[in-house]
Parts: sequence; structure tokens; C-alpha cells
Amino acid sequence: MKHVRGPLCSVDVGERTVETEAIDDVLESFLGGRALGTKLAHDRVPFDADPLGPENRLYFATGPLQHSTMSFTGRMSATGVSPLTDGLLSSNAGGFLSRNFTGTGYSAVEITGASDELVIVHVTDEGVEFEPVPDLESATVPETCEYIADEHGLESEHTVVIGPGGENQVRFASIMTSEERAFGRGGLGAVLGSKNVKAITFDGDSTHEVEIPPLQMEIHGEAAQSDHIMKRQGTSSMTEYANEVEALPTRYFAELSFEGAEGISGDRVEEKKYEKGTCSACAFACKLPTRDEASGLETEGPEYETVMAFGSNSGVDDIVDVMKSNKLCDEYGLDTISAGDVVAAYLASEDEFGNTDLIHDLVEKIAYREGVGDTLAEGVDRVHDELGVDNWTVKGMEFPAHDGRALNGQGLAFATSNRGADHMYAEFYPYEYPLVDADDAFDKNGLEGKPPKIIELENVNAIKDSAVLCKFSRDFVTPDRLEKLLDADYEELQELGAMVVSLERHFNNQRGFDRDDDAVPYEIPDFEDGLEEYYAERGWNDDGTVPEATLEDPDVGVTPADD
Ligand code: SF4
Repeated sequence: MKHVRGPLCSVDVGERTVETEAIDDVLESFLGGRALGTKLAHDRVPFDADPLGPENRLYFATGPLQHSTMSFTGRMSATGVSPLTDGLLSSNAGGFLSRNFTGTGYSAVEITGASDELVIVHVTDEGVEFEPVPDLESATVPETCEYIADEHGLESEHTVVIGPGGENQVRFASIMTSEERAFGRGGLGAVLGSKNVKAITFDGDSTHEVEIPPLQMEIHGEAAQSDHIMKRQGTSSMTEYANEVEALPTRYFAELSFEGAEGISGDRVEEKKYEKGTCSACAFACKLPTRDEASGLETEGPEYETVMAFGSNSGVDDIVDVMKSNKLCDEYGLDTISAGDVVAAYLASEDEFGNTDLIHDLVEKIAYREGVGDTLAEGVDRVHDELGVDNWTVKGMEFPAHDGRALNGQGLAFATSNRGADHMYAEFYPYEYPLVDADDAFDKNGLEGKPPKIIELENVNAIKDSAVLCKFSRDFVTPDRLEKLLDADYEELQELGAMVVSLERHFNNQRGFDRDDDAVPYEIPDFEDGLEEYYAERGWNDDGTVPEATLEDPDVGVTPADD
């Protein structure tokens, strides 16, 4: 199997020490990206680590495909214990960082300890330097990127940065890269904030070449020629369709369709798009630089999940208002899904749906933990009682769209996901939307036959996150192509994917997670039977824990490929 190369660079920002460690045996078995970060975290982070304590460790890791020039590979992975879910979690960002990270020559960079002053960590192929930056306290993401460009000549594609959200340890703070791309879900920005790290830069010319087969050019060509609607509207192309089939959370999950969906639809986003946007080396170019000429507002997006959280779920029917929420979240370094949902929870408690001035004010207050923002910065799971609203989370993570009450298999997938309510963990929803015309499509109702498919998708997504490959490659990088790119058969890849999922689960079990945490806040027919089938196929105990034997048996939890 192809795998990323290079040593681990371990940076203790408290002690200001740097160690370089050969980890070839880990790399040979764990590919790169999320698999590598998960294995390192599982073995090096204490099971009882406080997510916001110096003992938590944050891993940035690249994968073998970052040595190609193929579309869908402008991404990299970050892993740590989440202050939102309290479990081990990986988050994945696009943009242009991955190639600059690869230039440092490291397969992964570990950040541990806690600095006693705000610092930037500079990682290059010649070593690591620490720069105290007290003047950047409370700086936004663009302000910090501007400082790094001015002082060090490094554009934002060399950086990961936190905004006030991360500094103030908002539990759903994101880490931003290339200024507007986010390691969004799970609050890893707060982990960097707890370590007093404002930014990390990556630069260098070093490389450990990984040979990727010429197939990459075929995929690149197909991505360039595709006329997929995402190239015009990104994921916002889903909005009206999800609304039609009643899977669009509305007014803090009280309804499943929104009378104002047309005003926040993909067509409205496309009208605001003013140029092509992409990630490093990607000819699919699905990103969305948008501008509202009337107000001069510019942002990137919003993507569909942001449209849901700050649009339908907040009772907002004007795309420009959603664009403004999106921009504020990017500047302050907040996950748009969790931020939008917790704002929607507050609007529900105050009967203020659609109050856009209040919404934008709340986003700022959350980032700086001012007034009620200090409460909302804790996330829905911790504050729903105080607000007097239902707890719309799984494992402490706020829900995205693709509602599991309409798409029951996706509902089970939200429950089993080690990350919590995350649609990209299994990405089951495309198989359940009623207009999908494919041999392996499912009826959206019930769970019959779905648990093995959920397992297969969780496993293959773990591999994509490790390669590192964008999930939107699904029509282009088929299982047989993945085999060729990574020089491994599909079963071998499924085994590694299963191992990653089980390692995450095992870590979380040591922190008290079990079957009770695999739950959604609504009824799904035959849910308990579906859960049991899922555990049995994974080789887990029926209380949702991982037996030690499963961690040693790579064949367990493997579902054969459809073809
Ligand atoms: S498909 Fe879109 S999100 Fe994925 S790498 Fe390409 S431009 Fe980035």
C-alpha cells in the first residue's frame, strides 16, 4: 500500500522543545492523514486527557496523494480530542495548505503542551521556531493572515490560524487555512487556543516522493470536463431538492421544509458567485467566491450546511444574510454548522426566528464570549436546558442537514458516527434521496439492509480521509481506481478503514462512551435492531464497546465492495 513518508515532528509549545521521530512502521500500516493521526493520538494521548488541557495533542497529517497533481487532493487532516464531543475526532480541510505542509518533509506534526504566551509556530524543512505574538490577541483570521504575509512573506495557504473563537475556547471553534477553508467540526480551534497557539506556518522544499500511477491524469481530465452542478453552486445545489423531499431542518428542527427555501437556494448562491474557486490542483473547482454588489459583502460560500444552519434553521430567507453569517464565522474562526444551530436554539428560546441583526450580533458575542455569547459558546448539548429547548445533538455535536427523520439510514449513521452528528462520516444520505437512480439506492424509510452499507461507507471514508482525498471525488475515484492509486486491494483498504473506526471507538470507550451515546433525538423504526446489526458486523460488543480482539483482527468490520 502506498503511504505518506517522513518523520513525525513533535512540538511541545510549553517546553519549547522539538523532537523528530522516525515512525516508518506506523506509516506502513496507517497510510497517512486521519488513519495516521488516529493511530498516533490513540497511542500517545492519555485516555483521560482534558481536551483543553496541555496533555491533549493535536496532529496535522498529510497523505500519499498529496504527492500527485490529481484533482480532489488539495486537502489535509487534523486529529485531536474534541472539546465539543469529548471524543477523539478528525477534521478535514481543503484549500492550498497540503502541498506546503508536504514541503516540510514531515508526515505529521504533533502539537502538545501549552504556551504561557500567545505564539506562532513556524515549521520548515530546516526546523521549528516559536514567535511570541501578544499583539495578535483577539485578532481575526484575516488580520492574522495579513500579519504573517507582511512579516514573513507567507500567504495564507502556508498557514493554519485561529480567530477569537479559538482563543476564547469556544467549543466549536474552527482552525482556518487559506483564510476561508476550515477544519470545521469538533472545536479543534479551541484546542489550539488552549495551547496559546495563534497560528502555525508550514514551508519548505523537502519532499519524500511517493509515486502515484498515471491514472491521476485521467481523473484530472474527467474532473475538468464534468458539467456537474456543484461546479456552479457547490453543495448549495442541494437546498431546494432537500426542501422538496422534506429533509431540510427548519426553525431549530421544528419543521422539515422551509417556505423561504427559494431565497437561499443554489440558484441564489450562483447569482452571487463572481469567479471560479478551487483547492490545490483540483480541476473540479467547486468552491464559491461570492459577492453581493449592493452591499459589497464578499465571502466564500455559503455551502449547503451553512444555508441550513443560518438559513432555514434560523428562519432566514435571504442569501445575503446567510453570506454575512458565513463571513463572520470564517473571520472569527467558528464552525458554521454548530454556530448556526446554537444561534437557532437561542432564536427558538426567544421566539426571534428571522431576526438577522440579532443573529449577526450573536455570532460576534459567541466568538468573544460576551453576554449570552458566553453561554452559547458551550454548544447546544451543554446549554439546551438553560435555553429551554430540545437537545439537537449526537455525542454533543450539532446536527447538519439531511435530516434522519426523513432519511432513516442517515439517522442511524448519525448515531453510530464516532464524531457525532456528522453527515460526512458515513455520507449515507446520497443513497436514500428518493430521486437517486442507482442499483444500490435504498428506500429512505426504515433500516433494512442498511447497516452493512453504512459500515462500508464509514470505512471507505476513513480511507479517503487518510489518502487524503476529497469526498466529492465519489463519481470519479471509484473503488477500482482507489485500489490502483493506493496500490492496495479494496478489501485491504476496507480493513484499514475498519481499524481506524475501531481505534476511534476504542479511545472513546475508555472515556466512557458506549451504546447510550449512539442515539438520535427522534424515533427511527427498528432502530435498536439496526444498531445491533451494526455492532455485530463491526465485531463490537452489543453495548457499543470495542473488544480488544477486534483491534487485533483486521478482518472484522469489513463489508465487501458492491462490484
Ligand atoms: S472537489 Fe471542491 S472541495 Fe473537493 S478538492 Fe476539489 S475544489 Fe476542493
